[in-house]
Amino acid sequence: MKTRFAPSPSGHLHVGGARTALFNFAYARRLEGSFLLRIEDTDQKRSSDAASIGFLKDLAWLGIRWDEGPEFADGHVHCGGGKAGPYFQSERLEVYADELNRLVREGKAYHAFDTPDELEAKRQAARAEGRSYRYDRAGLMLSPDTVQRYLDEGRPSVVRFKAPEGPVTIADEVLGSATLPAGEVDDFVIRKADGYPTYHFAVVVDDELMGVTHVLRAQEHFNNTAKHILLQDALGYRRPVYAHLAIICNPDGSKMSKRDKDRILRAAVKERGLEAPPHGTMDDAVFEAWVADKNVQLDLEHAMRLADALDVQLPEINVDDFRRSGYLPEVLVNFLALNGWSPGGDREKFDLAFICREFDLPRVIKTPARFDRTKLLAFNLDALQAMPREAFVDRVRAHGDEFHPFFMEHLSEAQFELLAAASHERSKTLDDMFRTNRWVLTPDEKLAWEDTKPVRKALTGGGPTGLDQLRALQPILADLADWTVPELERVITEFAQAHAGGQLGRIAQPLRIAVSGGTVSPAIFDTLAILGKKSTLRRIERCLEWAAASAGLAG
Ligand code: GLU
Repeated sequence: MKTRFAPSPSGHLHVGGARTALFNFAYARRLEGSFLLRIEDTDQKRSSDAASIGFLKDLAWLGIRWDEGPEFADGHVHCGGGKAGPYFQSERLEVYADELNRLVREGKAYHAFDTPDELEAKRQAARAEGRSYRYDRAGLMLSPDTVQRYLDEGRPSVVRFKAPEGPVTIADEVLGSATLPAGEVDDFVIRKADGYPTYHFAVVVDDELMGVTHVLRAQEHFNNTAKHILLQDALGYRRPVYAHLAIICNPDGSKMSKRDKDRILRAAVKERGLEAPPHGTMDDAVFEAWVADKNVQLDLEHAMRLADALDVQLPEINVDDFRRSGYLPEVLVNFLALNGWSPGGDREKFDLAFICREFDLPRVIKTPARFDRTKLLAFNLDALQAMPREAFVDRVRAHGDEFHPFFMEHLSEAQFELLAAASHERSKTLDDMFRTNRWVLTPDEKLAWEDTKPVRKALTGGGPTGLDQLRALQPILADLADWTVPELERVITEFAQAHAGGQLGRIAQPLRIAVSGGTVSPAIFDTLAILGKKSTLRRIERCLEWAAASAGLAG
């Protein structure tokens, strides 16, 4: 028993692709078979090596290991290798040529020399007569001598499969059987004019020669399966078991596509009435071209910088988006499995080992799954909260090293550990700490305060006001020799008892605003300890100066 995942590496691994890989992997484990990975890179225009490597990394990150396929090593992970390679289709052209020539020799495929214009004219004629277009087999009418002469002359040609007449029945383990009536499959191209095999031909040859017995793949390939079955019969191949998986879509039923990112950014740009790109995000020309044409997509770098500048969160679509956003791979794997498979009962939380033990085709869901990010976030929160403190800190550190090197370099190890530990309780993702604590990175002299309602309330409300409290606390903090969480807690609690009727919040919030510029930071003693004495005092001083200079805030 052997399953496979066969991505075409253009761009990034989409969650839908990741789920297909997961199901193939789990099914192979469950039936004690093996799982093969093949890179379908015959579309040279769209494939890239960088994308292939990205795909391998994403799969490995999710914990999906392939027994056979491109070799991959990263830390303690080693996957791939095998005797049926190479596993990149671009390196298998001779294999395809051999099988293709055999079909031509046997009269089951033929050369066709129609030019694109001729084909277009035939299509238009069909349309004008109100019938559906099928290739008219012009290539098949040529005598063998003519074909040879054309080939010798170097006329551009494709090879077409001589599709047998008759209905084709696709037996699908998830969707059930479906029969395509006779005449639905026409003589499709199996070798393109550039000499490369088409997807249909390469996939059929590879599945046979690589010994694939089970094909679990996206539903968009369902109709292709009819072509594949006919090719298998013509080539004398075995027929694998097929199961097609319904797509994953957004909660509103739309397709989860990378265009969703552009959509969110366009809305934010429009809402703010921006006519030029925010400073440092991209060139004016790139921005203008993007604004002018709704079909233009920003590349990921530009999209991320713009999202940062506009303070919007991009929707995650690809596996590396989720990684960057700080989701745990074990949570994403759990969630992907739930989107399209049910383990039975109302069980929702499980790990990869469980999926590998339990995954089965009868419980694959036939209808499209709706990807609920809010629920995923809740799963991630639960998993992070269930983690021991040290494990959390380690994972935040690894995340920071990968995605926030500037942040990590800026903090000492002690500061980092304090901040990470203090952030644990409220973290929904590994990224939250970095996104919500930018105040740590801001130089003391650059910290700015905004005159917003909550800031005003905390600083000027009550009597004594927050600003009065800050002024009174200043010398006490300046005298504190031992700048540690317990000592800070002791003096500030004492202060609150003496000056704020024991209400810690009445001093904690003005302090938080003074040192962070905003109303959100970890617990106040942790916040001050992370910042250190010098920065804390300087920030309080500057905040009081700012308040004095702002009309109405002078308190
Ligand atoms: N390479 C195809 C794709 O990425 C999948 C081929 C298959 O699973 O048969 O859509």
